[in-house]
Amino acid sequence: MILKHKMTLKHKITLMINIMLIIMVVVSIKAIFNQSSNILNDEAETSMNAQLDRANENVTLLLKNIVLETEKLSLNQNVENYFQGDFGQKQSDQFLTDLMELKNKERPVYMDLFLVSKEGTIVSAAMAEAVGIDVSGRSYFKNAVITQATDTSDIILSRADNTQIVITLTPTENGDGEVIGYTGIAIFATYFSDFLEVFEFHDDSEYIIVDSFDKIVSHPDKSLISSEFDNFGLQSFKNESNAEDFIIANIKGAEYIVMERILDFNEWRIISQLQVDEIYSKSRELSYTVFQIGVVFVIIALGMGVYITDIVSKPIVEITETINRIIEEEENYKTTMINKLPLERLTHRPESNEKNMELEEISNFRKAIHGFKHVLEQGATNFDIEYKQLKLHIDALYHEFDNVNSRNLEFISTLSHDIRTPLTLIKGYARGLESGEVTNEEMKKKFKSGIVKSANDIEHLIYTVLDFAYEVNNSKTFSKETYEVSVFVDHVKFEIEQLYAQIDREIRIEIDESVAFSKKQVHLDLMNMNRVIVNLINNSLKYSEVDREVILKLKMDVDSDMADSVLVEVEDFGIGIRPEEIENITNMFYRTEASKDKKGYGLGLYVSDQILISHGSKLHVDSKLNKGTSVQFNIPVID
Ligand code: ADP
Repeated sequence: MILKHKMTLKHKITLMINIMLIIMVVVSIKAIFNQSSNILNDEAETSMNAQLDRANENVTLLLKNIVLETEKLSLNQNVENYFQGDFGQKQSDQFLTDLMELKNKERPVYMDLFLVSKEGTIVSAAMAEAVGIDVSGRSYFKNAVITQATDTSDIILSRADNTQIVITLTPTENGDGEVIGYTGIAIFATYFSDFLEVFEFHDDSEYIIVDSFDKIVSHPDKSLISSEFDNFGLQSFKNESNAEDFIIANIKGAEYIVMERILDFNEWRIISQLQVDEIYSKSRELSYTVFQIGVVFVIIALGMGVYITDIVSKPIVEITETINRIIEEEENYKTTMINKLPLERLTHRPESNEKNMELEEISNFRKAIHGFKHVLEQGATNFDIEYKQLKLHIDALYHEFDNVNSRNLEFISTLSHDIRTPLTLIKGYARGLESGEVTNEEMKKKFKSGIVKSANDIEHLIYTVLDFAYEVNNSKTFSKETYEVSVFVDHVKFEIEQLYAQIDREIRIEIDESVAFSKKQVHLDLMNMNRVIVNLINNSLKYSEVDREVILKLKMDVDSDMADSVLVEVEDFGIGIRPEEIENITNMFYRTEASKDKKGYGLGLYVSDQILISHGSKLHVDSKLNKGTSVQFNIPVID
């Protein structure tokens, strides 16, 4: 199940990163296509405009050149002589023919050079068949007569053989400035078509020249010359287009950008057109190249993506797995952990009286703590391996608490609280370490030493509370020895003075003469007897104000029921005990109401009483609430 989960998560991450890469590449290609077609579009417009201006200028220049040539011819002496009658017809015709052949050697531009009489009849020409044609009705002749200046035909003329020509006619004057005839040059209209090819700026760009009567002067399809121009089927094309603008026209099913100029020289229009597809084909080419690069990039990126996401997803997958495992373990906690507890099973406990059960609880608890401490020591050095075992023991401890708690002992709630605090800290540190989030070595060290410190706190608690109670009840025989009473009281005095030398409380030790020099003997476990006295003094210190003294009295008790005994008494002037509570205070875990705001477990007097019982004695308490308490016990002397 974990493997499936791992693959899915890893694949998901890989898939997501790769989809992002592919989207990035596709978006880039789209952006490049859009951007490049915009650039190319703008560029096409700009270059169309520029080329159209140049075509305009050059066609105008061409026409001006023809005008100049015509005017130059009209100034030729032979022409003047001819009109003056000084140059023969044949000679004139020959002159014009020779001149035209000479010009056409460079380029076949000139259709005819000719002379027109004042009345409007062609009188001499390079082309013999032109002689005799009456041009008096033609606009260029009429204009030249009226303006007495050069005129170029604003329309093209179509001859019988379907050759289209453009004519320039200029008046010829004699030496006195008097018009004696007209000189004309006719050029082929195809000349313009050929010439405009120079200005084509794109494989697919075309020029058309249309005269003022909408007749085609120049067209890439030469068969259309002199036919009517249909303005691309647009009624308002002439009005719509201007020098700065363009229109999109549909020509034979394809879209074209169309621009036009009106010639500076006459009313002709130059039109240029460029197929829109042609512009976008460049963008498409560019996008295709980007696409190819993109595909290569995506393949490399996919490879890298898989590799990188493998690395990236590894810790994510591991963290997720750990979380899942912890959740699963939490769920299985009761069944798995409890079964593995290395403790004496409570269910197999033999029936016993209440006190024995309590002791058994303490015994179990004590064992759990020792196991726990052992694991902690191991775990701190080899954390990863020991973590599981550590967790097991923590859970075992919680389990023990729950068991004992169910007996509703206040003791346990206090002890639980005191142990749970370091336990919770340990859990927190351990989880922090196990999650893998703590990578800093310094921090790891702090976490581990935090675990050890908390464990020490627990150990200290165990020693001072539980171990003590447990040992007292399990030591069937104390190591008792016989002491002279005087030696015993000296020893007690010495121990107490040493122990409380550092604390700022007054502890008065009153040793009565009856014991100070007594040669009588007592049989006791010195260390445990000291424990009893220390317990009583500690209680007196704890349950009285700091400015109140505590008195330890040792004397021979002659009034006692026993034959002879040493009376030990600890007296204070503290909070005291209610009469009805006095008989309970030697019970295990018992604490009076008045003492609840002081820390304690209710074990000290119980343990002390147990020790005394094994010495054939017991505690006797005398107390008045808010006045003070006196706790006494007797140690019998032996013969
Ligand atoms: P603790 O750790 O609570 O002091 P002990 O077994 O030593 O446990 O004492 C049991 C209870 O008896 C105390 O909680 C307190 O209520 C009461 N007690 C003991 N000694 C004194 C004292 N000198 N003055 C008042 N109350 C006392």
